Amino acid sequence: MKIHAEPLTKFSTEIFVAGGATEADARTTADHLVLANLKGHDSHGVGMIPSYVHSLLRGNLQVSAHAKIESEHGAVTLVDGQCGLGQVVAKEAMDIAIEKTKEHGLASVGLHNAHHIGRIGTYGEQCAEAGLVSIHFVNVVGHGPIVAPFGGKEARLQTNPFCCAVPREGKLPIVLDMATSFIAAGKVRVAYNAGHDVREGSLIDHEGTPTNAAKTLFEAPRGALLPFGSYKGFGLAFMCELLGGALVAHKTMQPGNERPGVSINNMFSVTIDPVVFGGTDRFASEVEAMVEYMHDTSPIDESLPVLIAGEPEQQRMEERSRDGIPIDDTTWKELMNSAKAVGLAVEQIPTEAS
Ligand code: NAD
Repeated sequence: MKIHAEPLTKFSTEIFVAGGATEADARTTADHLVLANLKGHDSHGVGMIPSYVHSLLRGNLQVSAHAKIESEHGAVTLVDGQCGLGQVVAKEAMDIAIEKTKEHGLASVGLHNAHHIGRIGTYGEQCAEAGLVSIHFVNVVGHGPIVAPFGGKEARLQTNPFCCAVPREGKLPIVLDMATSFIAAGKVRVAYNAGHDVREGSLIDHEGTPTNAAKTLFEAPRGALLPFGSYKGFGLAFMCELLGGALVAHKTMQPGNERPGVSINNMFSVTIDPVVFGGTDRFASEVEAMVEYMHDTSPIDESLPVLIAGEPEQQRMEERSRDGIPIDDTTWKELMNSAKAVGLAVEQIPTEAS
């Protein structure tokens, strides 16, 4: 089934309001999730709502909490997300980063203890809209590991995303936004719900043998996701752990830390105003020239032109804004159950996608 962004956002907002969030915070969260769907990342779209509601009902997700400044050292700010709605507290943390960067030219914000913050590209885009370059290293704690280190059979890490966004004048930013696992865990969930296999190279089973079966992540005996790009991807995932985790949160996936079964994100961000490196004009013209140079490459497959990071999402957004967002039956059923679980009145629950 397909549903358009606006009714899906309205429905998602109502779920969070019924769960105790303010209209504004519920809308911020719903906007973020639906934007992830529009950009083609169903793994980080409204399909996350059932896990958020589960967390809320267990008393882990604090829907009224906001970002709290814990310490400030000039351009460096440490922010406690207080296990609030990740999309809300991370946006607030980036507001601080933007303000500090405008003052100092460069800033760093460490956000820790945020409930799952969703699609990291959203924060890169927020900084780019303010004209800033940004770099984000994120770790994930609170659950057991699901990604094996390079060469290992057992999971030791989560899918630790990395993002770097570069603004462009009068154009959408360049946004490299990716899990450091071969594919995002949510994409394995989407495939599992839809009864599909995942891309080759994504998974190993419990004996370390490559498999495409999505169930290996959800049914015993469990296997693991692999890092992207063999040892290089593993290295980047590990840096996300050390910067997003150890540096900012003092919490990594090492087994001495408790894993209460809640998705917590910690994020180390650096934001830079291109002005401090000699003005925006040279920067902008070099960026545009490089983008053009890449686009100018002869494609190996004529039907697949060379793209820049962020462009696949822009294309998907055009299609889905026009045609609607596809939602599989399992996800839709889970959404209905979440709506009921927070006591949303039956007449407010759409019975079928529109
Ligand atoms: P992906 O593999 O679909 O894309 C990764 C990057 O590659 C994107 O920047 C995309 O624009 C670029 N890209 C894709 N196809 C391309 C092509 N043909 N040419 C050039 N560039 C291309 O993304 P992913 O790794 O599956 O991650 C999905 C989402 O999951 C991200 O938004 C990420 O932030 C999110 N995530 C969040 C968490 C969390 O804990 N909050 C954890 C993991 C992932």
